[in-house]
Amino acid sequence: MPERPANGRACAPRASRACVAGGLACALALVGCVTTPPRKPPLALEGHPEPDLQGVTHVVKPGETLWRIARAYQVRVEDLSIANHLADSAVLTVGQELFIPGAKAVLEVPPSDLPAPEVRPARQGNAPLAWPLIGVLYARFGPRGDTRHDGIDIAAPVGTPVLAAADGTVLFAGAQKGYGFVVVVQHPPGLITLYAHNQAVLVKDAEEVKAGQPIAKVGETSKNSGPHIHFEVREGGQPKDPLRYLPAPR
Ligand SMILES: [Zn+2]
Repeated sequence: MPERPANGRACAPRASRACVAGGLACALALVGCVTTPPRKPPLALEGHPEPDLQGVTHVVKPGETLWRIARAYQVRVEDLSIANHLADSAVLTVGQELFIPGAKAVLEVPPSDLPAPEVRPARQGNAPLAWPLIGVLYARFGPRGDTRHDGIDIAAPVGTPVLAAADGTVLFAGAQKGYGFVVVVQHPPGLITLYAHNQAVLVKDAEEVKAGQPIAKVGETSKNSGPHIHFEVREGGQPKDPLRYLPAPR
């Protein structure tokens, strides 16, 4: 039987075992079980500003390339390819729709007589995590004015399944004010992933999950943004850029 502390939240046996080994898993388990009110996730989720979903849809015309479109809109090829889940060297088809993150109006792409530069893959090596869903990346990790964005935002229709980014154990699955339903998953090598702004969760605390398993559904719970999830990766307790852990888009 799980032990039941004074605050009423059951401590998972797995979390208790993690405390024998110490480390981050232990600290998070203790936070979740002892020192915080029931149903509070073990990671701080406060004051996180969500950007407006900005951008336009550009319809590819004959002769246009990813590089030329990126140049016309003054965005990086990498941003354009990630936002649309394309390889940097992807061959576009006429009539294909591309989301241009950050653009405010559709622009004409001027013809170019310069050859497109050679582009390298955005990232290389083995990625420890998989994309939690296929959607439009519209907000990156990093400083945002006086604050900091601790994850990435991926837009997708309400109800789109959110998938576990790797095998792991659910540390928290439940509602969090301002963040809709939140899932936090502990992965064996000391990695933690967090999925916020869901419409519903499909897993329970302490449940074992497999990579690619649906764990939640995309919701529309952020005030100023359309339906999306906020995805965080923590290693050693620190928020890290999730794009460093995910494979290059295909
Ligand atoms: Zn976010």
